[in-house]
Amino acid sequence: MPGNDLARQIKEHLTARQVVELYGFHPDRGGYIQCPFHTGDNHGSLKVYDGSKTGWHCFGCGAGGSVIDFVMRLFGLSFAQACLKLNCDFGLGLTGERPSMAERSALLEARRREAQEKEAAAALYREKAAEYRQLWEAQKFLSPDIVGYIHPLYAEAAKKLPVLEWWLDQNIGR
Ligand SMILES: [Zn+2]
Repeated sequence: MPGNDLARQIKEHLTARQVVELYGFHPDRGGYIQCPFHTGDNHGSLKVYDGSKTGWHCFGCGAGGSVIDFVMRLFGLSFAQACLKLNCDFGLGLTGERPSMAERSALLEARRREAQEKEAAAALYREKAAEYRQLWEAQKFLSPDIVGYIHPLYAEAAKKLPVLEWWLDQNIGR
């Protein structure tokens, strides 16, 4: 299977301890962490091996395997994606073999999804900016000074504008 070479290199380069630590787990003195793969593991049943024995094993739910298995399960990735993620997150710069079709299309798919999310965020920003403009005009032209009473749109604008302004500030350039 293409990508096996990369997987082998990753297993040679990384210990389970390094991997779980990068993703925010802190093994106790005995090398145990709370298992992210079953609920209610308050005392920490997942043993992280370091040194001559590699990998990890949860004595609570029986899950276990290599560092790649850990990343696959933690992030819901395929084998190939998990290898690429580890390679990238640890800056290993491993190439393995040429990426397989499956790996390339997984990367393309991830990039496409990212672009879609960006586009959706931009559309939402435009929508909120338009709403902000409308309310800003309502506040200006429907003010009680001009129309002689509290127009409902004016009241709405007074309530929503600060919230919208804050949101637009937070999300600018996203
Ligand atoms: Zn478990």
